[in-house]
Amino acid sequence: MTSTVQAAVMTAPGQIEMREFPRPTIADDEILLRVERTGICGSDKHMYAGHMPLQFPIIPGHELVGVIEELGSRAHEEMAIVGGPLSEGDRITTTPSSQACGKCWYCLHQPQRPTLCANRYVHGFVSSDVAPTPRGGFAEVMHLANRSWIFKIPDGLSSEHAVLTEPAAVATRAVERAFGPGLPHIGEGLGMDKSVLVLGAGPIGQLVVAALAHVGVDRIIATDLSASRLDMAKKMGAHHTLDAGAPLEERLEAAKALTEGVGPDIVIETAGVPIVFKESLDYVRRGGIVVEVGHFTDPGGVDIHPNVICFKDLDIRGMWAYPAIQFKTALSFLKNTQAPLDDFITHRVGLAQTEEGIQITGSEGSMKVVVEP
Ligand SMILES: [Zn+2]
Ligand SMILES: [Zn+2]
Repeated sequence: MTSTVQAAVMTAPGQIEMREFPRPTIADDEILLRVERTGICGSDKHMYAGHMPLQFPIIPGHELVGVIEELGSRAHEEMAIVGGPLSEGDRITTTPSSQACGKCWYCLHQPQRPTLCANRYVHGFVSSDVAPTPRGGFAEVMHLANRSWIFKIPDGLSSEHAVLTEPAAVATRAVERAFGPGLPHIGEGLGMDKSVLVLGAGPIGQLVVAALAHVGVDRIIATDLSASRLDMAKKMGAHHTLDAGAPLEERLEAAKALTEGVGPDIVIETAGVPIVFKESLDYVRRGGIVVEVGHFTDPGGVDIHPNVICFKDLDIRGMWAYPAIQFKTALSFLKNTQAPLDDFITHRVGLAQTEEGIQITGSEGSMKVVVEP
């Protein structure tokens, strides 16, 4: 066993260097994880581009799978464990955020929405000066502190696919947000004979399409500027695609033509571009639902006429990540989906090529890029 471990450290926006850290020693309520794979997320790209007000240096990476190398004797008491008791050598994944504190205003009043907790620890976004042991996925090992959420990877789900658990948690929650109130027999919420338009066919949009197909939605429409991404969306389960480069009026007419002349029942915005949120209000039918997923960072604003929200009697639902237990749903989805996940992962790079991987992410021809330490 070597006494140092390597990690890719973002020292400032636009700068990543390999650094060595002392091999962490874990307390009896902690876990040492050997990282097998970590997906590169759009938010890693935003961090690299300087769009996030964070304290650097940071070891990014929050979409990971790995193998338990050392299991603290009291880890079972201090961690939230889903999928059975843990042993060294087990394959697991972990949510980026720790358990909610249970004590702040939000935990006391809205325990069903744990992402509103004011006191959560989120790895992959924390300064490596403050947390000197690797607490980000672009590293050979990761130190999992107490209050972590641990999910065992189910048998029959490969680590190649399980690395998608975090983005699949985002995607499945977006679909579940559209389900509410979930009363298809009175025409409310998502159901089988419903039309859903997914705006943006990046990694999250693609997984939303796949999750919609997985739950049996009969009319899934995807839109994006990139023809290759629209091709991918069809493979993931979209029934129709629209070129986002066409004039808005044309696109609105095309969407209506696909939805009995009224517009989609549900629009899920994943592009994270302000004008696309505005367009989601234009597309959706009266009485429909808009789920806003794309804006995890703040790229600015857009001119909106709030009258459309009243006139259309709309439900607009925001989404801040997902409750940790969503990982269980995501693992079940990944295990059972018919979507071609092997095609969805377009690039694999080594730990030393993390920076290159971040640059590839979002480029034409790329979808999910995975770092394999
Ligand atoms: Zn992510
Ligand atoms: Zn709290």
